[in-house]
Amino acid sequence: MKLIDLHAHTTASDGTFTPAELVEYAAKKGLAAVAITDHDTAAGAVQASELGEKYGVEVVPGIEISAEYLGYGIHILGYFIDPAAPAMTRVLDWVIQERKRRNSQIIELMRADGVEVSAVGLAERFPGAVIGRPHLAAALVENGLCGSVQEGFSRYLNVGKKYYLPRTYLPLETAFECIRLSGGKAVFAHPLQYRMGERELLTLTGRLVDVGCVGMECLYSGYTAGQSGYLRDIAGRFGLCVTGGSDFHGSRKARIDLGSGMGDLAVGYEVLEELRRR
Ligand code: AMP
Ligand code: FE
Ligand code: FE
Ligand code: ZN
Repeated sequence: MKLIDLHAHTTASDGTFTPAELVEYAAKKGLAAVAITDHDTAAGAVQASELGEKYGVEVVPGIEISAEYLGYGIHILGYFIDPAAPAMTRVLDWVIQERKRRNSQIIELMRADGVEVSAVGLAERFPGAVIGRPHLAAALVENGLCGSVQEGFSRYLNVGKKYYLPRTYLPLETAFECIRLSGGKAVFAHPLQYRMGERELLTLTGRLVDVGCVGMECLYSGYTAGQSGYLRDIAGRFGLCVTGGSDFHGSRKARIDLGSGMGDLAVGYEVLEELRRR
C-alpha cells in the first residue's frame, strides 16, 4: 500500500525540520506523498515543492489556519493552494500582524519578570518562522524557567496561565474564502482536539460544510480505530471526504513521527486521489 501524510510542519512555522529535511525524511520513510501544512504560511511548502522530484516524493502545498467558532480556535487545512494568490497573501499578512501584536505583549509580560527575550532575538533564533507560543516556550526553556517546551506550555503559556494572551482568529467565512479563492480545498483538521460533545461537533461540521469544507481529517496521530470510525461516519453523513495526517512537528512533538503518527497511523494514497477529485 502506498502511504502518505497530509499534515506536517516545518521550520517555516513550529516544526523543527527544514522543508528540505522534511521532504528527504518523507522519502526515507517511503511515503508516496507529503503535504506541508505550516501554520499561517506557505513559505515552507513552496521550498519543499521544488524538492519533491529530487527525492521522489509528491509534495502537496498546503497551509493550516485557525478560525473562530463560538470561542474555539478551529484549525482548517488548505490543500493545493496557490500561495501567491492575493486573496491568500492579504489574509496571511493580517494574521502575521495580529501574531506580532500578541507576541510583543507576551514578550512584555515575560520581560517584566526578567526573562531575556525579544522579538528581534526570536526572529534571529528562528529565521523565517511564523513566531508563536512554541517559540516563546523555547525562550522560557533557554532562560531556565522550565525544562521543556511542553512544560513551558503547561506552566506558562496554556489558556489561563501567566503568559497566555489570546489572539484574534479569522472569522470562519474568511478562512474558507481565502482557501477557495487561492484554488485550494479546505479540510476540517483534527476534529476531536476541540473536545466538543457530539451535538456540538455535528453542528460545527454542518456549518463548515456550508462555508465550503470538502474533507475531514478522520485519521490523526493518537486517534483510535474507534475514534476514526466515529469520524468517518460523520464525514460520510455530511458528504465530506476522509483525509489523514500525523501533524508532524519534528522534535517539538517528539512522540509523533511522520507517516506513522504515534505508531499506528496509516493513510493510503487513495485519500489524496479522492481529495483531488473534490
Ligand atoms: P499559537 O498559534 O501561537 O497560539 O501556538 C499554538 C501552537 O502551539 C499549536 O499549533 C501547536 O502546534 C503548538 N502547541 C500547543 N500546545 C503545545 C505543547 N504542549 N507542546 C508543544 N507545542 C504545542
Ligand atoms: Fe503547531
Ligand atoms: Fe492544528
Ligand atoms: Zn498542525
